[in-house]
Amino acid sequence: MTIVNHLIHGELTPGTGRSADVFNPSTGAITKKVALADRATMQLAIDSAKSAFPTWRNTPPAKRAQVMFRFKQLLEQHEATIAKLISEEHGKTLEDAAGELKRGIENVEFACAAPEILKGEYSRNAGPSIDAWSDMQPIGVVAGITPFNFPAMVPLWMYPLAIVCGNCFILKPSERDPSSTLYIAQLLQEAGLPKGVLNVVHGDKVAVDALIEAPEVKALSFVGSTPIAEYIYSEGTKRGKRVQALGGAKNHAVLMPDADLDNAVSALMGAAYGSCGERCMAISVAVCVGDQIADALVEKIVPQIKALKIGAGTNCGLDMGPLVTAAARDKVKGYIDAGVAQGASLVVDGRDLVVAGHENGYFVGGTLFDKVTPEMTIYTDEIFGPVLCIVRVGSLEEAMQLINDHEYGNGTCIFTRDGEAARLFCDEIEVGMVGVNVPLPVPVAYHSFGGWKRSLFGDLHAYGPDGVRFYTRKKAITQRWPKRASHEAAQFAFPSNG
Ligand code: NAD
Repeated sequence: MTIVNHLIHGELTPGTGRSADVFNPSTGAITKKVALADRATMQLAIDSAKSAFPTWRNTPPAKRAQVMFRFKQLLEQHEATIAKLISEEHGKTLEDAAGELKRGIENVEFACAAPEILKGEYSRNAGPSIDAWSDMQPIGVVAGITPFNFPAMVPLWMYPLAIVCGNCFILKPSERDPSSTLYIAQLLQEAGLPKGVLNVVHGDKVAVDALIEAPEVKALSFVGSTPIAEYIYSEGTKRGKRVQALGGAKNHAVLMPDADLDNAVSALMGAAYGSCGERCMAISVAVCVGDQIADALVEKIVPQIKALKIGAGTNCGLDMGPLVTAAARDKVKGYIDAGVAQGASLVVDGRDLVVAGHENGYFVGGTLFDKVTPEMTIYTDEIFGPVLCIVRVGSLEEAMQLINDHEYGNGTCIFTRDGEAARLFCDEIEVGMVGVNVPLPVPVAYHSFGGWKRSLFGDLHAYGPDGVRFYTRKKAITQRWPKRASHEAAQFAFPSNG
């Protein structure tokens, strides 16, 4: 059986003990094993990154960027291989996998601008014969811990930028679908990255705790579920580390009575059921303002949900693949059971879907609940599956109150033709990423990504300008070169330009 190994100091490094099974979610078969690092293995990666840092931090940003230019080309060249690796272990369709890779590549493109990004600021004559500037210096050894749902894109949110900023990086990918992540890291080695600048160490809580506790690791970027995000934030900051920890979500789409319904329905279909609902920006609640738009939505969307093309993600032309694991499938079905028990109206039931030829795959069909109320668990919790809940409200204000009261605040959107309503929504909604007639408002690479409330712990969002701030620390330098012959008497008043 193939073992997915670590990548430490530029070499594939076998594990020394525990391992986990990697499944093909379309068939339920175990296809590989992934090494689960112990503390000693993680220490090898930390030592490697530490040893690479002094040279890498002094490598000119333009040279670091050149590695990224070659990396981008390799990623594009190997798109089909990467998409297949993602699909085989995650279950998402090939087209969706290629889409996530493209969004990841945009972050590599942003990182190619390293010399521009790291220019800093300069003031000549800040005082008499005094020049002042701010320097953006790397932090040192930094680490990233990533979720299963974007095995290519989310790591690419982190390490290209961290690395061009002069840091050395340790990536702990999800143990559920590690192959594409490792393959991509190997492409970066091929692009000319010096050994030790990026290490990939697979593992579970043991590996993550080793990163949290290591004094050499100066910053942690985390993306995953809220309980783990909160754990990593509190344990990391307690130890004086810089931490950005992005968590779970429950994203609402508001449908105003004047919405362009056909477009809103198409948008909702993709946003609710794409990637089987396993996206942190997936729309899982449609908040309909008025019964008229709610009834019209149900009428239009039900046939489309029933017509979803569902199968093994590696087959072309599908809308949706399976969920990632048997546990994920059972959890989603459990939520559907709970929705029925708690009195929501189950309009489309995906629980009994069987895909011919893939009877052991982890499939759940597109599911729709109507008349969902805020105390139901299908409303309060992140289901992370192909389940859309309709909540009916009487006004935009009521819709906004509902969203603002929810514990998560990752993404949201409004469908309307009314500019005044859209403006009020953008202004007062307590959510980090907002779309107007855009269902998945994932910011482009030169803006930053992050939610509010319990969707993000920390101050800085991921990638883009916030990513640069996160992976650098500022140093303010004030410099004076007095003329040789001059001598100034000691001054005891606080220095100023006054
Ligand atoms: P997860 O929290 O289970 O795992 C994320 C990472 O944490 C993995 O690398 C995993 O190995 C590690 N981990 C798991 N349990 C741990 C523990 N007890 N201690 C230390 N580390 C642990 O998340 P997941 O199921 O892989 O991903 C889905 C979740 O991620 C969803 O909640 C989704 O909303 C969220 N997510 C959020 C964003 C965002 O940008 N906000 C993006 C993608 C996914």
